[in-house]
Amino acid sequence: MKIKKQVFDEMIQHCKSCFPYEACGIIGGKNDMATEIYKIKNTEASSVSYFMEPEEQLKAMKDMKSKGLDMIAIFHSHPFGSAYPSSKDIELSFYDVYHVIIALNPYGDNLIFEAKCFKIKDGKVYEEELIIEQ
Ligand SMILES: [Zn+2]
Repeated sequence: MKIKKQVFDEMIQHCKSCFPYEACGIIGGKNDMATEIYKIKNTEASSVSYFMEPEEQLKAMKDMKSKGLDMIAIFHSHPFGSAYPSSKDIELSFYDVYHVIIALNPYGDNLIFEAKCFKIKDGKVYEEELIIEQ
């Protein structure tokens, strides 16, 4: 999928601001081009899992519909982890959308990030290209 740089930067910033907890949200767009980000509260406040706050999720869905956008991806972060779906991510992925995973790991005073994109189908993980466009 492709993602507008502004949307990508906002997603990374949000994930960093939620550290050490997992951040999550929805990405809207059209034809594999991500143009809109919805930051959703992680009700689990955990470093190893997330659950999107249902009302915020519904609000995002309604906003996308009103703008003629599709939900093309779900993103979440892995603090202290790797940019690869966990067994729980694989088990719980019921949407046919891209899954963007942002690994965040402390490096000195900074957080270094790695963002990767996947499709998950029938328990199998396929890495997809994540192209950042200006
Ligand atoms: Zn995960």
